[in-house]
Amino acid sequence: MVAKDILNFIDGEFVATGKWFANRTPTTNAVIGRVAEAGKAEVDAAVRAARAALAGHWGAMTLARRVELLEALVAEITNRFDEFLDAECADTGKPKSLAAHIDIPRGAANFKIFADVVKNVPSEFFEMATPDGRSAINYGYRRPVGVVGVICPWNLPLLLMTWKVGPALACGNTVVVKPSEETPRTAVLLGEVMNKVGIPKGVYNVVNGFGPNSAGEFLTTHPGVDALTFTGETRTGESIMKAAATGARPVSLEMGGKNAAIVFADCDFDAAIEGTMRSCFANCGQVCLGTERVYVERPLFDRFVAALKAGAEALKPGVPDDAAAGIGPLISKEHQSKVLSYYKLALVEGATLVTGGGVPDMPGELKDGCWVQPTIWTGLPETARVIKEEVFGPCCHVAPFDSEDEVLAKANDNLYGLATSIWTRDLSRAHRMAQKMEVGLAWVNSWFLRDLRTPFGGSKQSGIGREGGVHSLEFYTELKNVCIKL
Ligand code: NAD
Repeated sequence: MVAKDILNFIDGEFVATGKWFANRTPTTNAVIGRVAEAGKAEVDAAVRAARAALAGHWGAMTLARRVELLEALVAEITNRFDEFLDAECADTGKPKSLAAHIDIPRGAANFKIFADVVKNVPSEFFEMATPDGRSAINYGYRRPVGVVGVICPWNLPLLLMTWKVGPALACGNTVVVKPSEETPRTAVLLGEVMNKVGIPKGVYNVVNGFGPNSAGEFLTTHPGVDALTFTGETRTGESIMKAAATGARPVSLEMGGKNAAIVFADCDFDAAIEGTMRSCFANCGQVCLGTERVYVERPLFDRFVAALKAGAEALKPGVPDDAAAGIGPLISKEHQSKVLSYYKLALVEGATLVTGGGVPDMPGELKDGCWVQPTIWTGLPETARVIKEEVFGPCCHVAPFDSEDEVLAKANDNLYGLATSIWTRDLSRAHRMAQKMEVGLAWVNSWFLRDLRTPFGGSKQSGIGREGGVHSLEFYTELKNVCIKL
């Protein structure tokens, strides 16, 4: 049974407010709970609690103890795995088979990986000669950046939130998290786990609400916040960057994408189809790294489109508990109308509809849910808005190409630059392409294969900064040089 009232978590306490907003489940769009919206006063209390924790027990804690606590968090999330799974699936409607495999285990693992990183990361050291014939030594010393404001999206709520909170806490910071208004449950549930394992109060705080004129804006404009980390749409990222300009505060931005997959005729066909199916349709297409543009070398084009169509049509829409469900709903009615407006636009722009294009026929109360069909188009010009703009739904356009130069130019001709997947057996070509693609993440013969020690982030309008492994330390710590004259 998932909670009906979702509160804020401030200074180790669950806090209601006078203002509630509805929590809906996307499978039926029914209201299944209500969320206490944090106002300026609650956001201020959360930031003050985070500052006090920094100045108190948490700031004074040894690294070894901090690491123990982070490891205890992993164990306790794992103990309460089913509760996290139910909460995440109630908010997102995604198949439990997916969330049990990705969202919850990865959400927990993010604490472990960064506990390991901070335990093992060395510091730099330089010795120099001084004019008096003696010497000096320099070493780098990392200290926490302070109170970090963490603004999260709804597509992988726990996973993307702990991807930021894990390294932030590992580095000794405190956080105030603003989960997406669509998916507040797991962030609040994590508050219980923080208390249970003994994370000091004020280290982890959650404030619920929306963006403008609500908890999001109150948090990003709060002068007590030292750094802002954000995952979400590029336009929102721009607003957050503007807010961060006051006080010249650092930002880490993980934003939108319009990712291209490039399939050469010499690829392992079955692997390319399997990978492209996942990259286009997993999580109902609501993955920032997902593919919305597929370029296929001409000799393989017809066969590829036919196989992708068969795969898309075999994806059964279903509720989280349905073990046979291959695809869940979109996150909300609002997002459903956005995706359907692109489905319409594609036809206006001249697309040939290969499959999908509408809403599946769902039984009973599911009729009111946020479902859309997996959709494939061909035949659009590269200038079409459907080729240029992020839809964030289960859809892709497939286009043929004849040469490496041609496909590189097309794939790179986009304002976003997050990820790509290149499918080929030619190793030299794979390296060449991976290096020339204007993206932060280039996969060859795979997709979403993540070693959490590696850098993660986007180029162009997809992001600023890199998170993952030691790269997260660049954002979550201040690196200070200590110079000692001997
Ligand atoms: P969104 O930008 O609408 O919302 C993200 C968060 O920002 C929410 O918590 C929202 O309440 C908050 N917000 C909105 N306006 C704000 C403001 N003015 N000030 C402060 N906070 C504000 O994004 P979304 O719809 O939740 O997520 C989908 C988007 O996220 C897609 O564009 C997707 O590509 C992107 N995304 C990127 C990555 C990545 O790693 N690059 C990962 C996942 C999702």
